[in-house]
Amino acid sequence: MVCPSCSQILSPPQLQQGQMAQCPRCARQLHRYKNHPLQKGLALSLTGLVFFLPANLLPLLTFSVLGIHSQSSIMQACLHMFASSQVVVGSVVALTTMVFPLLLLVSLLLVTFGLMQGSKKPQLTPLFRLYHHLSEWAMLDVFLVGVLITIIKMSHMASVSLNGGFFCLVGLVLTSIAAQTAIDPQRFWSLMEPKTSSGISLPDSSNPEDYLLCSDCHKLLPIAYLQTSGRTGCPRCGHTLHPRKQNSIARTWALLITAVILTLPANLLPIMEVDTFGIPERSTIMDGIIYFFKDGSYGIGLVIFIASIVVPLFKIIGLAIILLSIHFRWRSWLRHKAIMFRFIEFIGRWSMLDIFVITLLCSLAQFGFLSSISAAPASLYFTGVVLSTMLAALSFDPRLLWDAANAAETK
Ligand SMILES: [Zn+2]
Ligand SMILES: [Zn+2]
Repeated sequence: MVCPSCSQILSPPQLQQGQMAQCPRCARQLHRYKNHPLQKGLALSLTGLVFFLPANLLPLLTFSVLGIHSQSSIMQACLHMFASSQVVVGSVVALTTMVFPLLLLVSLLLVTFGLMQGSKKPQLTPLFRLYHHLSEWAMLDVFLVGVLITIIKMSHMASVSLNGGFFCLVGLVLTSIAAQTAIDPQRFWSLMEPKTSSGISLPDSSNPEDYLLCSDCHKLLPIAYLQTSGRTGCPRCGHTLHPRKQNSIARTWALLITAVILTLPANLLPIMEVDTFGIPERSTIMDGIIYFFKDGSYGIGLVIFIASIVVPLFKIIGLAIILLSIHFRWRSWLRHKAIMFRFIEFIGRWSMLDIFVITLLCSLAQFGFLSSISAAPASLYFTGVVLSTMLAALSFDPRLLWDAANAAETK
């Protein structure tokens, strides 16, 4: 096998229960032993779907101030954003909390059910590819943390009660996480392998350049496959094959520069407007954090500070260091940079936390003339920062780090 992150050639591990294989060069987790991945995947995705509708449609929380009650579900929170002309932010929240989590569970259910029936239908591969791509964009776990922060934020001003939707959301998040950790993607792909592709023989070579790896299903092919077969797609999953992600460095730079430009209005403009007795007061991201610290809620202040300021900055600086080290062919700290890149990939989605909190507050803190909260322009720019940094990490091919180091070595 070949490591998808650094192209190191390795012998395939024979794992037993509780064991995990890791690449010795870049420390990427290659495979983990899973017990009954099909049965668990099917049962957990089905359970998740049972929770899905009530979690999205039932009210999550009720806030009460002086006898005025205000409650909202995830669906209502998204519709409220659309109604207050925050169409882009509303769409991103609706996609990441409703559409993608639903598609994720449905695709996993259909794939596990199909594989348990012994089916090798060609429709299963695009479904599993969809699952693979959505796992990063379904953000209900981040949203749940946003709900908890909203509860703590509002508990000083209003009495907060939990509704049925909240408990269903907890159930949905736990079963979705359990389903994602229970399945074994490599085994699923090998079960879906058509006869035509299982027989393709590999060269007996220790040079990584003689191999071609599908970036979606990690099928290993000889580099000559593209010429000899006359095809451009992976024989197992249909994904277009390239030795490395196309125009990876230029695209990552472009998205990174977009993120840097958007960071300025995202932090300087107000992100939220609070109306109290008709008097509007606008606050930036930093104002919100200072508010928590002055209030004595250091824990929440720190969580928002890390998610909204530290994480986006870390992503931008980290990716810039990685891109520069490829440009200048720096050979030191390669393993650390590879680990840092995977950390950037992992934390990318957690920056959406502040946007989720604002979405919830906008629909929940509606007490008529007494007080109301609405989203201000920076919420759009901040969503842009999160999306562009996530897309930058997705466009980057970590193997280029090792390619640049190898090129510097052979020179
Ligand atoms: Zn590796
Ligand atoms: Zn493939």
